[in-house]
Amino acid sequence: MTKTLAVNAGSSSLKWQLYEMPEEKVVAKGLIERIGLKDSIFTTKFDGEKYEQILDIVNHTQAVKMVLEDMQRLNIIKEFSEITGIGHRVVAGGELFKESTRLTPEVVKQIEELSPYAPLHNPAEADCMHAFEEVLPDAVGVAVFDTAFHTTMPEKAYRYPVPNKYYDELKVRKYGAHGTSHMFVSQEAAKLLGKPVEETKIITCHIGNGASITAVKGGKSVDTSMGFTPLGGIMMGTRSGELDPSVLPFIIANDPELKDAQDAIDMLNKKSGLAGISEISSDMRDIRDGRKAGNPKAILAFDMYCDRIQKYIGQYLAVLNGADAIVFTAGIGENAEYMREGVLDGLDWFGIKLDKEANNTYGTTEISAADSRVKVFVIPTDEELVIARDVELLK
Ligand code: ADP
Repeated sequence: MTKTLAVNAGSSSLKWQLYEMPEEKVVAKGLIERIGLKDSIFTTKFDGEKYEQILDIVNHTQAVKMVLEDMQRLNIIKEFSEITGIGHRVVAGGELFKESTRLTPEVVKQIEELSPYAPLHNPAEADCMHAFEEVLPDAVGVAVFDTAFHTTMPEKAYRYPVPNKYYDELKVRKYGAHGTSHMFVSQEAAKLLGKPVEETKIITCHIGNGASITAVKGGKSVDTSMGFTPLGGIMMGTRSGELDPSVLPFIIANDPELKDAQDAIDMLNKKSGLAGISEISSDMRDIRDGRKAGNPKAILAFDMYCDRIQKYIGQYLAVLNGADAIVFTAGIGENAEYMREGVLDGLDWFGIKLDKEANNTYGTTEISAADSRVKVFVIPTDEELVIARDVELLK
């Protein structure tokens, strides 16, 4: 029995989960938020207890050291040597990384070099790799890439119709995101369908704060909604998703608050989506409440949100020429039954029928009616488990 740590570093956060392997038992987990800001929040869950501290954590290197110290202090581990593997989620693997990869100094350097494709994430992830390597030099490090699952997309799907030089020289193309989640839930859905994944056609909807939809054929991603960066595709909590690119120069020219393209992109990333339209919040629970109270902006935000998801499902029914199943996962996909109903209502021509009662339950559930041609499932995602499994495979 050994312990494996799954690490998910965001731009200002660090999520971790410690597993006993191969039993896949979660021993402890934690989250550090507001790294680099005042009053970082440091939370650890272990043995049925939740421990929270507020303190200033300046960077990811310090965060990693504190996580390891905390593990010893709380008796989660006795010796650092118990942790024999560490899996790191990496947002951008570019065209280089098509599968999870054991860390070497060269691999870490390549991940750092891919930073222009995920400027908020890859540098933080590389910092964590260095910090763990320093304290746990004997543990096997593995990088698990968000983009790897999407490297099977055909060129016609991942290329943008712009002059070739942008792809040839700058690698401008669709990379996708949430690959680990799309892979996990499509494999789980195949089990529920009782078929080998190679024989399935599945549309996976990862609908969290960030959100993306993927067409999965025979267990492989053949198209996905997110693009060159996680701003592409459907409308999200604070992100616009797709729009006509001509909007950008037009609003920069006419809005004195926007100085340049970077300002405009920040607005599309942080002030748009549900937050921009509802003017209430980026959180689906607040939109639900606003909608119940009859707030017209919340109603419009919700309707636009469902509309964008519905259209991608329509696209991918065409890409796959029909589907065996549609899967909803992540924070909103797993919890907001009213969103699932809003999306699926009106798709009955495709043979998609919702069982409204089943839709009101939580956890892994089939929510389609018995006579639905396409099955619909809610499947909680588990990206950390995929990371821990990949570490086991490569150790
Ligand atoms: P990410 O990993 O992209 O930050 P998550 O998948 O954790 O996001 O999803 C977070 C979002 O899920 C929240 O912003 C909120 O809108 C939504 N959410 C979480 N719990 C619920 C719930 N019980 N009902 C509706 N929406 C929820």
